[in-house]
Amino acid sequence: MEEQFKEYAKLLVEVGVNIQPGQNLVIASPAECAWFARLCAQAAYDAGCREVIMDWNDGPLARMKYLHAADDVFDSYPGWRADFCNGFAREGTAHLIIAADDPENLKGVPQDRITRSQRSAGKALAEFRRLQMCNGFPWCIAAIPVPAWARKVFPDRSEEEAMSGLWSAILSAVRVQGRGDAVERWREHLDTLKTRVDKLNGLDLESLHYTNRLGTDLVIRLPEDHVWAGGNGVSAAGVPFIPNIPTEEIFTAPLKEGIDGVVYASMPLSHRGNLIDKFWMKVQRGKIVEVHAEVGEEALQAAISVDEGASYFGEVALVPYDSPISNQRLLFYETLFDENASCHLAFGEAYSECIKGGTEMSKEELKECGLNDSITHVDFMVGTADLSITGQTWDGREVPIFVNGNFVI
Ligand code: ZN
Ligand code: ZN
Repeated sequence: MEEQFKEYAKLLVEVGVNIQPGQNLVIASPAECAWFARLCAQAAYDAGCREVIMDWNDGPLARMKYLHAADDVFDSYPGWRADFCNGFAREGTAHLIIAADDPENLKGVPQDRITRSQRSAGKALAEFRRLQMCNGFPWCIAAIPVPAWARKVFPDRSEEEAMSGLWSAILSAVRVQGRGDAVERWREHLDTLKTRVDKLNGLDLESLHYTNRLGTDLVIRLPEDHVWAGGNGVSAAGVPFIPNIPTEEIFTAPLKEGIDGVVYASMPLSHRGNLIDKFWMKVQRGKIVEVHAEVGEEALQAAISVDEGASYFGEVALVPYDSPISNQRLLFYETLFDENASCHLAFGEAYSECIKGGTEMSKEELKECGLNDSITHVDFMVGTADLSITGQTWDGREVPIFVNGNFVI
């Protein structure tokens, strides 16, 4: 497997954040994954990176803190830590985020502590977040297995078998086959996504109507100058990068107050260490006015109440039901993978690249265009094998976009 691990690390550094000679790289990684972070650091130096700066984290320690730290800890955010994040973002430093989480790491932790700490971090890291959402610096999120996660995905296997099962599922999802051609395969994949993005942008859609047998019946209006995007983003310095590896989605922003109807989730959502499952939402004039979840309803309520924008939508993403990830028919309990196996929506902040000229606009200008603003952005999956999406164009034509879960354009 050693060769595949190196190829994966190289892919994340050279295509994911697309590190440039002389550029700095921040790697955020669980301490447990230090060996893989080292492979990424080596790949970065090989590509001419100036300095790799490590930002370690640890799931079990985070859990311990939520359970035992003094209560006022969750209402503040360390200044030095804000300077670290905002400062590197301002300099255009590349950020590689290695995700490797126990999907239920924060199960049983007081929800109120999670929400308060998210609000404090949201305020302190506003600049980091603004720059991230407008591609001010190149960033890439990717994942590697850890035992607690692997056991959740393969509960019937031994730890060792679960780990190797999750590794092969991930490597196949990210097109790393140990033949040294992952970078090449990604270029082809990005071309395919771009062709579809161009088609959607050519349609000039006014709205989308989602229906399926789960009960989803939702109309989503789009801003007049919306832009579909997918595959790579382009940083402020003009360098292409891929925010998520894998990525199969084509996405845009909805009109903040332009969504009405009912939407059912098609997969569980692991959000901030809590599992939310079998849920649906009622939406009126863009606002989520009612939610029900058989599992994790409290966590879902909290997630949409973090701030005003958290109960409005920020993303509409199309993923064919027959994508390489969804064809594995595996529930990853990790949004990075599950969202690329299914059409999804996100409540919370919209990406400014989803509106013409948006990356140059102020928050106020983005709001005027109808884009939602929030400190949060949470994707959840809505795609099913029978999902139908019909588009309505500005000149009144009806265009089938999805039939039986797959693109028909
Ligand atoms: Zn998405
Ligand atoms: Zn998203």
